[in-house]
Amino acid sequence: MSAPNKSYDPVEVEALKPEEIARMRDEALAAFAAAGDLAALHEAKIAHIGDRSPLALANREIGALPPHAKADAGKRVGGTRAEVGRALATRQEELEAERDARVLVEEAVDVTLPGDRITPGARHPLTTLSERIEDIFVAMGYEVAEGPEVEAEWFNFDALNFTPDHPARAMQDTFFVRSAGAADAAAEGESGVVLRTHTSPVQVRSMLDREPPIYVVCPGRVYRTDELDATHTPVFHQVELLAIDEGLTMADLKGTMDHMVSALFGEGVSTRVRPNYFPFTEPSAEMDMQCYVCRGASVGDPDHPCRTCSSEGWIELGGCGMVNPRVLIACGIDPEKYSGFAFGFGIERMLMFRHNVEDMRDMVEGDVRFTRPFGMEI
Ligand SMILES: [Zn+2]
Repeated sequence: MSAPNKSYDPVEVEALKPEEIARMRDEALAAFAAAGDLAALHEAKIAHIGDRSPLALANREIGALPPHAKADAGKRVGGTRAEVGRALATRQEELEAERDARVLVEEAVDVTLPGDRITPGARHPLTTLSERIEDIFVAMGYEVAEGPEVEAEWFNFDALNFTPDHPARAMQDTFFVRSAGAADAAAEGESGVVLRTHTSPVQVRSMLDREPPIYVVCPGRVYRTDELDATHTPVFHQVELLAIDEGLTMADLKGTMDHMVSALFGEGVSTRVRPNYFPFTEPSAEMDMQCYVCRGASVGDPDHPCRTCSSEGWIELGGCGMVNPRVLIACGIDPEKYSGFAFGFGIERMLMFRHNVEDMRDMVEGDVRFTRPFGMEI
């Protein structure tokens, strides 16, 4: 191993010459001053004091110098690096201050400006009214039952005592679901599948699924081939009630209806029944409720007409009756042991007279201006 070269002069090493070190310093200071933002300053920092910068490389050269030359070169390079480091820190502070000032201006929030108001939605009143009715019956021990909207004809008609040629079947204008192989519209009726025309098939399913006593409330969407106008819609909602137990009579039906209308329209509002015909009930009746606005006071009083009941004192609500024994038999229930009552009504119609909605189309068009006022209902 050879001895260090005593005559080695650091000034002779190109990178360590004072003018070379001064040039590196000047370039670094100029680059820091020229950096317009923190990103540019970061670039300049890497270029001028990073591991591969000229100053760092010069610093490494010192290690190769003989001991007597190290002090002088180390002092010169070290002092320059410290000076460059201070210049960098100063410029860093300046640019950070500039950035903070800019952010304060750019991100200032004017709390006096009007905000973008997000209008809250509201549940559709058909939903809230239907749930309110369900709640009345759930409180009495009824169970909510639901079923398919695309229904077998047997559930929709046959089990409910509509025989294939029964005129009542034609009373309901039905959407038949065309089977895949059906050649034309005329063959639609052969599929045996319909869009349910009432929620009554849910009653059939409930009787087949459960053992008596059965107490169910069946809300749901139903379909008939009506044109959409102020008082008709091809898709509407029903709620039906079914009670099957030993010894049930029309008195139980009447008491249940009275309770429902009192809960919905006010204490003391009563109901009445008028004879009617449905294939699935026997006897069958039309049920009316007392007008909850005038309570009958407008009848025969032309000075105080009632808009809600057209001064008739009663409002038609829906159909009801004792479950036809033939339906009980079709659903596997012994009519000798059990009897039952059922009633059903349309939610759209009830919403119309309960809230003075004059046009049924408002309920289906999805305009939030219609639903929003109902949003207050709890
Ligand atoms: Zn009235």
